Parts: sequence; structure tokens; C-alpha cells
Amino acid sequence: MWYNEEGFVINKEKGVYKCKACENELFDSNTKFDSGTGWPSFADVAKSKSVKLNNDFSHGMHRVEVTCAKCGSHLGHVFDDGPQEMGGKRYCINFSCLLFDNKPLEKVSKTKKAK
Ligand SMILES: [Zn+2]
Repeated sequence: MWYNEEGFVINKEKGVYKCKACENELFDSNTKFDSGTGWPSFADVAKSKSVKLNNDFSHGMHRVEVTCAKCGSHLGHVFDDGPQEMGGKRYCINFSCLLFDNKPLEKVSKTKKAK
């Protein structure tokens, strides 16, 4: 299940969230947290090149838009009010843009880290 009756995200499984359009790996469930907004929120991206950040001046405010680095799909926005212990970022992502895969990311495996 992805949503409860209020439309809030209740998926708490471990895994990786991918771009729905191109299956680029975007976010790891380890960085997902409950922001209280009902939107899926992540403190960090899965890989530094997973997403692109773009200035967004629409609606009379300055926000930072998050798009898929591979296909350019709009994913959501990033804010600076995330949990401090997780780096202070809050990636506020539209779940309709994501695919969930319950396989862990390669980079989180405990064996042999590249570099
Ligand atoms: Zn994509």
C-alpha cells in the first residue's frame, strides 16, 4: 500500500525509489523520513548525480526544483528544513513520479565499497 485514506504515504519498506519514467535510482528508503506534510520526504538522494536541482521562481517565490537527471521529469522540490541529524535537507517528492523497488541499492551493501 502506498497511501492511506487521507492520501498520505504509508510505505515503510526498505528499498529504492526510482524515476517512474526512466527507472533512474533516485532515493534510498534509508533517507526517507516523516516530515508531517503527508508528502514523501527524503533527506538525501541515492546518488549525487541522481537528480538535478533548478531554481524555480514560479508562484512568486524562490524554491529549488528537483528533476530526474536522466530524463528531466519533474519530481518535486528541496527545502532546507529537513532533520539536522540527516543533513538538514528535505526533498519533498511527488509519489506519482516514483517507482518503488524493494531491492537495496548496491552502494549501501556492507561489502567492498568502491574507492
Ligand atoms: Zn527519469
